[in-house]
Amino acid sequence: MSEAVLEINDLSLAFPISRSLADWVAGRPGKVVRALNGVSLQLQKGETLGVVGESGCGKSTLARCIVRLYEPTSGSVRHHGQDIFDASVRGDRAYNRRVQMMFQDPFSSLNPRMTTGQILSEALRVHEMRSEDQIPERVAELLDLVRLPQDAAEKLPHEFSGGQRQRIAIARALAVEPEILIADELVSALDVSVQAQVVNLLLELQERLGLTVLFVAHDLRLVRHVSNRVAVIYLGRIVEIGDSETLFSSPSHPYSQALLSAAPSMDPDDKGQKVKLEGELPSPLNVPTGCAFHQRCRFADTRCHSESPSLRPLEGRGEVACHHVEKILHNA
Ligand code: SF4
Repeated sequence: MSEAVLEINDLSLAFPISRSLADWVAGRPGKVVRALNGVSLQLQKGETLGVVGESGCGKSTLARCIVRLYEPTSGSVRHHGQDIFDASVRGDRAYNRRVQMMFQDPFSSLNPRMTTGQILSEALRVHEMRSEDQIPERVAELLDLVRLPQDAAEKLPHEFSGGQRQRIAIARALAVEPEILIADELVSALDVSVQAQVVNLLLELQERLGLTVLFVAHDLRLVRHVSNRVAVIYLGRIVEIGDSETLFSSPSHPYSQALLSAAPSMDPDDKGQKVKLEGELPSPLNVPTGCAFHQRCRFADTRCHSESPSLRPLEGRGEVACHHVEKILHNA
């Protein structure tokens, strides 16, 4: 049986936003952005879990909660059973080392005045990964690991291409020998050919080093390529989670069906029937009652307007949050 390295339970996050003058004059309370609404999932050792959904659905917020950049309003994130927001472990640097995040734009996270060698050495020093005399050798190993030439150590971030900068970001994350990598739109800003190289490098390193990866991306083809399991998020809720191949070949939730149907197929001969995703994503300032997807769902009935569906297991598939999924699949 696989081992959960991270357990997320009923995680919610609401950002209060400052009251407008009109609200203040009318005595109305300030508004709240409900970015996450009861997310529960487990990250299993050695797997890659893809997280997909439209822009603004809460994918990146979830990733940022996991690395404690945001504090949830309620719920918990447990790392090997220990709540990472518990006051007694809050200052624990070991967690920061074990869980490393890589961002879409490494330019903003790589110090422009430090060479690659200095960036990697700093990571090794801060977490005391090597003694001072061992650092140059480890920097050379890390450059090899991400297939950058040794003279990269002497260069500044602006002297590299976007793909090479992402390799530096990966090397910096690996410097501290993490257990979990959180890749937030890691390759979204890169050309397609470079995307493939960086993603394949990540997959190779994952296998070689036994890493667990949370891969957040809006590119569904990429997520399918890298993920063992996939979680589909809609307005801060998981609506479907399951094995990647099953979910991509036969999605169950009406939102997953529409989202996947809207994505370009990898098969040029695919003439499959398209399910149109109607309307816009509602604002997280005003999350619909009941099933948050009901305004865009062609199967919605009165129950969907008032009752929020829970995520529940579906035989032969993963878990799905839809009152009528059995009927929908039966009639498909
Ligand atoms: Fe559609 Fe209702 Fe299912 Fe939500 S619960 S996805 S509105 S059928």
